[in-house]
Amino acid sequence: MSVVDRQEWDVVVVGAGGAGLRAAIEARERGARTAVICKSLFGKAHTVMAEGGIAAAMANANEHDGWQVHFRDTLRGGKFLNQWRMAELHAQEAPERVWELETWGALFDRTADGRIAQRNFGGHEYPRLAHVGDRTGLELIRTLQQKIVSLQQEDHRETGDHESRLKVFQECTVTRILQDPPFPGGAGRVGGVFAYERESGRFFVLQAPSVVLATGGIGKSFKVTSNSWEYTGDGHALALLAGAPLLNMEFVQFHPTGMVWPPSVKGILVTESVRGDGGVLRNSEGRRFMFDYIPDVFREKYAPTEEEADRWYDDPDRNRRPPELLPRDEVARAINAEVKAGRGSPHGGVFLDVSTRMPAEVVRRRLPSMYHQFKELADVDITAEAMEVGPTCHYVMGGVAVDSDTAAARGVPGLFAAGEVAGGMHGSNRLGGNSLSDLLVFGRRAGRHAAAYAAGPSADRPAVDDVQVDAAAAEALRPFSAEAGEPAGGPPENPYTLHQELQQTMNDLVGIIRREAEMEQALERLAALRARARRAGVEGHRQFNPGWHLALDLRNMLLVSECVARAALERTESRGGHTREDHPAMDRAWRRINLLCWLADPAGDPAATDPERGRIALSRENTDPVRPDLLALFEKEELVKYLAEEELYE
Ligand code: FAD
Repeated sequence: MSVVDRQEWDVVVVGAGGAGLRAAIEARERGARTAVICKSLFGKAHTVMAEGGIAAAMANANEHDGWQVHFRDTLRGGKFLNQWRMAELHAQEAPERVWELETWGALFDRTADGRIAQRNFGGHEYPRLAHVGDRTGLELIRTLQQKIVSLQQEDHRETGDHESRLKVFQECTVTRILQDPPFPGGAGRVGGVFAYERESGRFFVLQAPSVVLATGGIGKSFKVTSNSWEYTGDGHALALLAGAPLLNMEFVQFHPTGMVWPPSVKGILVTESVRGDGGVLRNSEGRRFMFDYIPDVFREKYAPTEEEADRWYDDPDRNRRPPELLPRDEVARAINAEVKAGRGSPHGGVFLDVSTRMPAEVVRRRLPSMYHQFKELADVDITAEAMEVGPTCHYVMGGVAVDSDTAAARGVPGLFAAGEVAGGMHGSNRLGGNSLSDLLVFGRRAGRHAAAYAAGPSADRPAVDDVQVDAAAAEALRPFSAEAGEPAGGPPENPYTLHQELQQTMNDLVGIIRREAEMEQALERLAALRARARRAGVEGHRQFNPGWHLALDLRNMLLVSECVARAALERTESRGGHTREDHPAMDRAWRRINLLCWLADPAGDPAATDPERGRIALSRENTDPVRPDLLALFEKEELVKYLAEEELYE
């Protein structure tokens, strides 16, 4: 079949966001020849959009902060379903990762006495987010890119070639992980990746014993989302197709504050910093409604009155936090309930106001992107009037099941995952700011262990046979033959139409509030879409053809959407980013249960239309018992609210 270029590397990192770049830097610094491959332009990963900051217990703004407090907040936010060892490593290592960024040239906002400034965010007991205005992600990526360039300059001095040890393949998309022997049928040791160049359509293979997935999230499966075009769940699907399981995919975070108007920008994020810096939520009656929605588990930590909440900004040690700063899942549900009760804003959201809370010049200084975003996109001056906001699909807590210490994906030797594509760290709900720190902590760990694995006994390089490469090429070319009526079974389908129908299905039937009958309906629709997606056809040729790219992404979005729907149907409780109208309470018995999604019948028909069987099988496993010294960080009365009966007994 086609002749495909092959290159040899030690480590291939798929994704050039915060997690991918941090992994690549670490792998290269530990001596591995490292390739980074990304779908978009280098520097244009999703991380660039991060606004509010990086959570790290540096105690610059409040001396009482420390890793134990950060760990506690993270577990509370995740409703105790977090992989606790990840939460522990994250809380312990985040400050070091932020200081390291500074030594690499990052310029954070400063306190009056010159330390890195830290701001308040939902669910964090103390001001903890290191930030650069509301453009923190841009600074993070700029710094990591600069570090990569400096390593390449170092390599040039030694070898005469900038790309001898660290090379970036930009605007290239990976469609398959290659294995030795191929999955299914063996242990499936990683052998590399199959990819195409977006501009030319040319196929190529990067062979390596270690592959790090750092591909981000899945938001583009939903209609209203803060996520960019890249978030089609590729890494999640690549892992599944290689035989690795995904963990707790039912947990999808709907950020409480996305823009709701005008329709063309619906879903674009309004950063949590707006509330962290003093912004308040009001309904159409002018009421600060969040005081009506403080759940029992958080009642002792949040102010019951506006007076106490407002005093907290100046005197946090003697007052409790405003309920606008509850974890995101709680605020999103509250907004949803207000709108449903007929107390929403004219365009179906609620009001978020900073104009009556701080002087115009402070708003413009602290929230410059938000000021411009609303001025330019909605013609709203946020220094003079309230914003209209509502929930938007933002982040996926579920992801590749990984080892907490090494980021190794379960079941596929040589495969690693870090950043949003990895599961476990955030439990059922992520706290704001905990993603950027997660990228740095676990990106570094993934890079380190991927390099060590590549230098280990796997030095006898896995073989990648032509059959696998040809199969990957044939799969990638299928959309062109669909237009010619192949495979049989119906007329060609337009990938854009299929994508819209998928997004509508997920939005309407597996969205912020879930019901059993609707999720069953979603699985039926996904099965029908899967069959039609086999016939997704494109015209033209392989040179920069976005319709073709989308046709290939559909496979991934359909797989991860089925994971979300199936796991959400199975979990009969409400917890974090998973709210069941028919099971509204958190059930302590479910705290011990992780749901794993597997590819059900790897050799079966990818167009299988039976919604009962689908392509995804679920299994249950018990969560690891939390280590006693970590449990001792909580009051017993608090643990009683979360832990299963037998855990308390133990
Ligand atoms: P990304 O940064 O998305 O990088 C993914 C990379 O994978 C990209 O380079 C992409 O091109 C590549 N890729 C994907 N698929 C393929 C493929 N098939 N082949 C090759 N390459 C591929 N978190 C915080 O902690 N603090 C914040 O203030 C904050 N603000 C946010 C604001 C917005 C608007 C949004 C949307 C998110 C925010 N988040 C924030 C969340 C955070 O930004 C993301 O979770 C995080 O950046 C994800 O980083 P990542 O490295 O995992 O993936």
